[in-house]
Amino acid sequence: MSAVSDARILVTGAGGFIGHHLVTALKARGYWVRGVDLHPPDYTGVDADEFELRDLRRFDEALLASRGIDEVYALAADMGGMGFISANHATILHNNALINLHTLEAARMNGVSRYLFSSSACVYPDFLQTEANVTALREEDAYPANPQDAYGWEKLIAERLCLAYTEEHGIETRIVRFHNIYGPYGTYDGGREKVPAALCRKVAQARPGGQIEIWGDGEQTRSFCYVDDCVEGIYRLMRSECRDPLNLGSEELVTVNELARLIIDLSGKCGITLKHIDGPQGVRGRNSDNRRVREILQWEPVVGLRQGLEPTYHWIAQQVASLDAA
Ligand code: NAD
Repeated sequence: MSAVSDARILVTGAGGFIGHHLVTALKARGYWVRGVDLHPPDYTGVDADEFELRDLRRFDEALLASRGIDEVYALAADMGGMGFISANHATILHNNALINLHTLEAARMNGVSRYLFSSSACVYPDFLQTEANVTALREEDAYPANPQDAYGWEKLIAERLCLAYTEEHGIETRIVRFHNIYGPYGTYDGGREKVPAALCRKVAQARPGGQIEIWGDGEQTRSFCYVDDCVEGIYRLMRSECRDPLNLGSEELVTVNELARLIIDLSGKCGITLKHIDGPQGVRGRNSDNRRVREILQWEPVVGLRQGLEPTYHWIAQQVASLDAA
């Protein structure tokens, strides 16, 4: 793995959760970084050397975004948790298809040498994720393809686009499939939040002895990866020679009920109970098989779930408290 700290970097989606953490990490490694997004980071200042407000659904904007750039980390996407993903199929497919097509073609035209695309565990087929007690997903399980939502299809097409651009145009592309990344400074309210942040917010808002709502019976399973581990993995992948898609996630499988109880425990609030209500749940079970990423990048998560939830919960609790005080 070679470090190229004089390369000029573009991070798209730099106003978002993973993007802004990635910008901070790249700056700490000495890179010159341009961030691009529809908006600046919601909860922190801008660490990037330049931050440009651009809509990557427009090709002219995408061309400007990667001018003078050597490497692109393409994280921009119109996305959210299950509530958003299951209710906005057309919007997600339309917006993200445009973002992905334009960002990659603009990068090629601007002579970018390396391009990392952020894909998702949502590419894996529905039929392999019907049990809570799942077999962890290996990269080759993505085919025959049958993702549950438009979001997964859009990611799969963009993966194919990356592979085709490498073959036809010679641009080095890297593809990472994230499995539920969480941590501080991510969306925790408004409808786009994902389950760890949503549960942290609900627990922060609950009184001791109160109730929090869980979508479904809470026995659906997932694994959750802390954002610092994720950012380290992304960087290693970009520096590697691996052109095939790689999982990036934790292998620590928990039910949503267990996740909720862990957060309640961390909050120190006594007697909070779970109330199960109807709501979108996504697939029944999903876990990451990390054999390939371990072998290729010598990467695995170092932050356990409880350890990562602690700063996440406390940051969200602080946000909730300051909003209540306002
Ligand atoms: P996020 O929503 O916090 O960040 C995405 C950013 O993209 C947002 O700030 C948004 O404003 C920006 N964006 C949307 N439309 C845009 C447009 N037209 N032009 C420019 N910017 C635009 O999401 P995140 O959690 O940081 O995810 C980053 C990437 O990782 C996304 O591609 C997402 O699909 C992928 N991913 C994330 C997870 C996860 O668990 N967080 C899991 C799988 C895949």
